[in-house]
Amino acid sequence: MKIAMIGTGYVGLVSGVCFSDFGHEVICVDKDPRKLEMLEAGEVPIYEPGLDELMAKNVAAGRLSFTGDLAAAVDGADAVFIAVGTPTRRGDGHADLTYVMAAAEEIANSLTGYAVIVTKSTVPVGTNRKVAETVRAANPDADFDVASNPEFLREGAAIDDFMRPDRVVVGVESDRAEEVMGEIYRPLFLRDFPIVYTDLESAEMIKYAANAFLATKITFINEIATLCEKTGADVKSVAKGMGLDGRVGNKFLHAGPGYGGSCFPKDTSALARIGQEHASPMQITETVITVNNAMKQRMVSKLQDMCNGKFNGKTVAVLGVTFKPNTDDMRDAPSLTIVPALVGGGAKVRVVDPQGRREGEELLPGVEWFEDSYAATEGADLLVLLTEWNEFRALDLQRLASSMSEAKLADLRNIYSVEDAQRAGFTAYCAVGRQGYG
Ligand code: NAD
Repeated sequence: MKIAMIGTGYVGLVSGVCFSDFGHEVICVDKDPRKLEMLEAGEVPIYEPGLDELMAKNVAAGRLSFTGDLAAAVDGADAVFIAVGTPTRRGDGHADLTYVMAAAEEIANSLTGYAVIVTKSTVPVGTNRKVAETVRAANPDADFDVASNPEFLREGAAIDDFMRPDRVVVGVESDRAEEVMGEIYRPLFLRDFPIVYTDLESAEMIKYAANAFLATKITFINEIATLCEKTGADVKSVAKGMGLDGRVGNKFLHAGPGYGGSCFPKDTSALARIGQEHASPMQITETVITVNNAMKQRMVSKLQDMCNGKFNGKTVAVLGVTFKPNTDDMRDAPSLTIVPALVGGGAKVRVVDPQGRREGEELLPGVEWFEDSYAATEGADLLVLLTEWNEFRALDLQRLASSMSEAKLADLRNIYSVEDAQRAGFTAYCAVGRQGYG
């Protein structure tokens, strides 16, 4: 199959590279000249483990290329994937479809024969029909079908998720489009990964429903964590005891500082909006959004307590600012609420993150960046563990505690325990949903 992939972000680039690895001929399109320049030079503009190697392999095999010329990529393609951003629209919380519709119009003007226009971006219910209308209006002679193919990959594990998905969801309305989609995903079908064929609206809804459900699960355990702190229960034991029940499942039951990232915040917000528009309020999702925002503020209060009520004059070392480990993505990360509160309160903030600096330098003004956790912590009054990168999981706590001005540890990912902190000589320790001291 010949595939054009419009947008080379976290989803488009991974999808394009993986499709080419399936054996398809893929041309990836982006309008960002900085990204294109890097891609054409063989460099990966994002941090995603394993992507550089797989990209190099398929470029070398002649199956994968990059261009800024959308028309050239679309010419002769069997399928054109739209994988552009759908950020939250300023003001009303709705998904901003500007990029999707602009891409649809450009595709319409570039079609040369039959093609399936596939929306991979996360879009509100009804969008695929709007894409079809837009294409038809721009080019009444266009020979095309639309398909909805939402993506479920997780940043940090994106290649494995794409190559070994729990399921592939395809919304289609014609046999011809189903055939093309079936051919594209044949390597996965042959390996028995389930492909769910459904209508356009259901495919669009599946993506929002799945993300809102996962955001709800995280928020539920975070709220339980708050109650654990008040009652003396330990959220780690509670989550383990809950998760062993097959109906509950143990995933997404790790208490922390509140969810962030490029999907959950915007997708919950968009789902709430879709509900309002259809006079069918998504009350659970709306509450999840409110509770999650409060969760991030609760972390700020926790840190304030650790600093005896005020940040002014304190030196705080923050380990990890990306929204989760193994990505450089900072979109809606809890650090974007917590670090500015520290800086705004007058703290001197030192930050360490294995991949977050490139994005973070702009997003977190007023902080000092360090490469090394031990150097960042020397002389500090508080150490905050904010993102659970592997390199923060086995720190020499004793070395850290002994180098600090005040040996206090806020473990917002529950990596360590009271015993670990006490043994290392920390005078104060707090976690999420567990008892601390000091
Ligand atoms: P992104 O912002 O990283 O990438 C989007 C890319 O599209 C950018 O490089 C931009 O320059 C390019 N672009 C925009 N308009 C274009 C046009 N007309 N022509 C060519 N290129 C264009 O976004 P992302 O994180 O990859 O997300 C893309 C979509 O996938 C979103 O709808 C998102 O909700 C969804 N999604 C994301 C993830 C994730 O983990 N990031 C997971 C599943 C689904």
